[in-house]
Amino acid sequence: MVRVRFAPSPTGPLHIGGVRTALYNYLFARKMGGKMLLRIEDTDQTRYVPGAEDYILEALKWVGIEIDEGQGIGGPHAPYRQSERKPIYRQYADQLISAGKAYYAFDSAEELDIMRKQLEEAKVDNTSYNAVTRLQMKNSLTLPKDEVESRIANGDAYVIRLKVPLKEEIRFKDIIRDWVVVHSSTIDDKVLLKSDGMPTYHLANIVDDHLMEITHVIRGEEWLPSAPLHILLYKALGWKAPEFAHLPLLLKPEGNGKLSKRDGLLGNFPIFPLEWKDPFTEETARGFKQDGYFPEALVNFLAFLGWNPGTEQEFFSMNELIDTFSLDKIHKAGARFMVDKAKWFNQHYLKGKSEEEIASLIQEMRTDLSTDFALKLVRLMKDRITFPHEIVSEVPFIFEAPTSYDEEIVNSKWNDDARKAMGVIKENIHNIDNEGFTSQNIHDTIFPALEAAGIKAGKVMQAFRLAITGGGKGPDLMLTLEILGKEEVIKRIEKAVEFLV
Ligand code: GLU
Repeated sequence: MVRVRFAPSPTGPLHIGGVRTALYNYLFARKMGGKMLLRIEDTDQTRYVPGAEDYILEALKWVGIEIDEGQGIGGPHAPYRQSERKPIYRQYADQLISAGKAYYAFDSAEELDIMRKQLEEAKVDNTSYNAVTRLQMKNSLTLPKDEVESRIANGDAYVIRLKVPLKEEIRFKDIIRDWVVVHSSTIDDKVLLKSDGMPTYHLANIVDDHLMEITHVIRGEEWLPSAPLHILLYKALGWKAPEFAHLPLLLKPEGNGKLSKRDGLLGNFPIFPLEWKDPFTEETARGFKQDGYFPEALVNFLAFLGWNPGTEQEFFSMNELIDTFSLDKIHKAGARFMVDKAKWFNQHYLKGKSEEEIASLIQEMRTDLSTDFALKLVRLMKDRITFPHEIVSEVPFIFEAPTSYDEEIVNSKWNDDARKAMGVIKENIHNIDNEGFTSQNIHDTIFPALEAAGIKAGKVMQAFRLAITGGGKGPDLMLTLEILGKEEVIKRIEKAVEFLV
């Protein structure tokens, strides 16, 4: 059975690229009838950020990624937080030592520094701790056995390093990138267990993927350089490696380089799923949710950042994505992060929502609005907006009479005809009773009245709009009038006539 995992580190808010990784894992798991796991990789305690784990769980829930097993859910391989699995890793580090695949290293930070400097002076190409340089260092391969034992017994600080072979070709077939071939001489003897007894990412990741029976590792391209080391580790532990699929990078909108937090600031778009308040700096980073994106729009957008069904279809619900998704349709090339596309998806999903649904979203933002009023606003604005909140923010004139008038429209449209028209309109509107003050009735009253007065309605409508809203463009005017109500409309006409001489 297919078993995949999403394995974020709680070092801050989940980046949108992380959400895409989680999504692809989820789609693949569901498509294959497999399981999706969530594991928290918090072995690097120095980078731990409070609140980050809760944020990850909340973000996944919001986008609709359901976890079958793991942190927050439980399961047969609990605990799923690596900091709670410390003894497990130690056991495998010891196993590697006994098998001669790993060794103790006692070098202090200063000694490592000295080594590097000496090697640099000697013009050695590769100054890392590796199959060549390890022979000059203080470790269980160079020190006498009894010294090693006494150092350990004395509580001397040490790390456990992987004994990377000097000459070995490491090859594996990535589902997306095909064959990857790396020579072991380019890999250093990575630390597997740190001096505080905590495993490094590499050891914990491999041990857990094995114990949790992960069949496919689907993760970001930034982990591709670590994959050969991981293959070596599987081999050293005598385990079968899972399949790998390294996802393409998310690129800046311009396409040059990796998408960063700064790009969001520059381009005025979020790069986190949910709003995030940094617990240290108290700074707030915006989120797709709070910006007004629907989770189904974000999912559709993210699905296409690196994958394509190979057909013309662009709109996919989560279930349709599950049906259509396959790893072999994922691209190798990086995917440009074009937020306009996300907006376009949002518009689409907004249009698909019922007026009632959107009205209740509006009422959540503006608790002072009645359902009836919110519904009218929805009808007025639904086809003109990308985000629900714009239903309110784009029509300030609904809530307040204009205090100034667009000068250009004043100059081009506020003429004798317009002034005369205001008189006709006001008088006729006066005669409509309050209950009958609907957009249709208003229309059917005003237009013939203007005509009867010898005024071409088309010539004065913009001036009328100006009087009501202060501007020359906007949503359906008749419906705007209905929403404002008879009294307010008359007041605004009078104000404009008085103000615009
Ligand atoms: N903890 C790693 C991260 O933060 C996981 C990488 C992997 O999936 O192996 O992305």
